[in-house]
Amino acid sequence: MKSSIRILSFDLVGTLIHPEYVDSFWEEEIPKQLARERGISFEKAREYALAEYQKIGDNDVRWYLPAFWTKKFGLLTSPITILETSANKMCYYPDTLEALAPLHDRYQMIIASGAPIEIIEFVIRPIASYFHRIFSTVSSLGYVKKTEDFYSHICRELGSKCESILHIGDDKILDFELSRRAGFNSYYLDRKCDDPLGYDTIRNLVELRNKLL
Ligand SMILES: [Mg+2]
Repeated sequence: MKSSIRILSFDLVGTLIHPEYVDSFWEEEIPKQLARERGISFEKAREYALAEYQKIGDNDVRWYLPAFWTKKFGLLTSPITILETSANKMCYYPDTLEALAPLHDRYQMIIASGAPIEIIEFVIRPIASYFHRIFSTVSSLGYVKKTEDFYSHICRELGSKCESILHIGDDKILDFELSRRAGFNSYYLDRKCDDPLGYDTIRNLVELRNKLL
């Protein structure tokens, strides 16, 4: 497989960065801003925001879009500014930087994520030069989740053979299986060590680097 791979496709949340940052954007930073701008308590703002998220629900693509929510809540502050205020909470896994730098010298790399484009672009800022393209299910295609078609779209956009792309992600279905169904190669990143270690399972990105270089 190794010799036929030209492009590495990475999931973002749970793969390159800890999920806590994205969770806290929705559950803490947006409510904090809402509390500040409306002059209400954080607890009240949080309760209100979470209830409003619930009303839209995660089957609706708007649920995933920061700009939809800042507008809906009438916030004067942009999503990017809110992301910036909590940038200190953003955290790459230690193996991310260690593995990506040498892989970048050898492979073209892309992001294929279910996060909205504003969040992706913000969190990869320090390593943006590593990535040739970014694909977001919600922002590029208006899909609420990764599908086989999302991966086929990536393939067409890159003008590459699907088998020359290796996708790596921490969701067994959405990353590992669906990309495979579209014809990609894939590795399941099992950071929690839930599965026995198989050929297609890795525990961290240094293992990926070791397999590929
Ligand atoms: Mg993930």
